Amino acid sequence: MAWDFSTEPQFQRQLDWMRGFVRERVWPLETVLDELGPEGLERAMAPLRDEVKARDLWAAHLDPKLGGQGFGQVKLGLMHEILGTSPIAPLAFGNAAPDSGNSEILAIAGTPEQKERYLYPLLEGDLKSAFSMTEPDTAGSDPTLLKTTAVRDGEEWVINGHKWFSSNGSIADFLIVMAVTNPDARPHQRASMLIVDADTPGVNVLRDVATMEHPWESFGRYGNHAEIVYQDVRVPPDALLGAEGAGFLIAQQRLYPGRIHHCMRWLGVAKRAFDMLCERSLYRYAHGSTLSGHQTVQNWIADSAAQLQAARLMTLQAAWKMDTDGVAAARQDIALIKFYGAQVLHDVIDRAIQAHGALGYSSDLPLEAMYRFARAARIYDGPDEVHRASVARQILRGYEPPLGEVPSEHVPTRREAARRQFADLLESVTAND
Ligand SMILES: Cc1cc2nc3c(=O)[nH]c(=O)nc-3n(C[C@H](O)[C@H](O)[C@H](O)COP(=O)(O)OP(=O)(O)OC[C@H]3O[C@@H](n4cnc5c(N)ncnc54)[C@H](O)[C@@H]3O)c2cc1C
Repeated sequence: MAWDFSTEPQFQRQLDWMRGFVRERVWPLETVLDELGPEGLERAMAPLRDEVKARDLWAAHLDPKLGGQGFGQVKLGLMHEILGTSPIAPLAFGNAAPDSGNSEILAIAGTPEQKERYLYPLLEGDLKSAFSMTEPDTAGSDPTLLKTTAVRDGEEWVINGHKWFSSNGSIADFLIVMAVTNPDARPHQRASMLIVDADTPGVNVLRDVATMEHPWESFGRYGNHAEIVYQDVRVPPDALLGAEGAGFLIAQQRLYPGRIHHCMRWLGVAKRAFDMLCERSLYRYAHGSTLSGHQTVQNWIADSAAQLQAARLMTLQAAWKMDTDGVAAARQDIALIKFYGAQVLHDVIDRAIQAHGALGYSSDLPLEAMYRFARAARIYDGPDEVHRASVARQILRGYEPPLGEVPSEHVPTRREAARRQFADLLESVTAND
């Protein structure tokens, strides 16, 4: 038997250190972000990063030969659960999105020259990157519909298209652009990825889109979601990342582990909200008792604990399957936890807000920001509905319609069959009556 839910002691010590470090050194920074500004935040992060590197926890998602730790997905998942408790913790650990995902793409598909020029400086924090796939005019949930094109003109590729929600696009030094390079190929072989330097003529960053998370339009803010028009953008042949037509393949290699990391980070956020829910229930007094004495609040606490535990086990099991059987084998588990985890995140934060009343709605607590963050989780990396549909499709492959359209559990039909199967026995029993 190899069922085991324990963490090896040496790694547990690393996790314990991380938990204390993130809570004591990173959480306080959250409250002075506006005063620090981007430069101040960088300065605050520098000594933290040194400590993380000294503990061998820097850029842990990468291969050891790229300066990472080569941890499997389970260990990464356990780390991300802690990092998720703060939106800025990943910055201290060298795995903040989208740079972390883009570094994985470059590690998987980049040539030695591309790694030299983009990957290593990205890992050092000397460059910033964005991933530019979603378009305002086509459904991001079905990227086979992409309209952005990259057409060969002599040696060069010429890119034309309109993208948005390219996270960090307005501060990126380079963008990884997904564009159709062969419209006549099979749907999942039409697109390729190209590396585009942000200062290439024709890369027009229009704005940082105002969102529920940052409801004011801006430009050049960290964590932005940029709208970009690519107009006759000329890039050299070596801008192609991976093989021509391999865009979807590479995207999937990046997105599957990325989803597990998201789900574990969401657990970190949800657990922080859960702690606030429990704390509030113990001191707020109304209608004859503290909130903890009211059954509805008890239900919120119990339901949240059950959902958190289920989501955690589902995520870790998906991570374990990726480590043991590979990404392809874990597809269904990853899709399951992507939509279920997003729901749990939402539900727990929602209950914590409710328990805090007006205070929960105010920005005197981090709950309202968590709530806005949670809403996006149901959309990015595939909306809930797409993952549900994918899970249902995969499950249904294991079923067949019944013969003759009678359900296979139909009792009268089964009774007839049982009577035939046990005819001798039934006859002897009735004969004895
Ligand atoms: C915070 C955030 C960050 C993002 N960062 C990036 C980034 O860095 N780079 C990037 O390229 N993109 C990014 N995106 C975009 C994201 O990937 C897309 O929003 C997502 O893929 C959905 O595409 P869409 O917005 O075009 O919605 P659509 O594809 O138009 O879908 C709209 C809705 O249609 C419904 N729907 C779709 N398909 C089905 C179906 N099969 N069955 C039932 N209902 C369905 C769903 O309810 C879905 O929400 C980001 C988005 C957000 C919110």
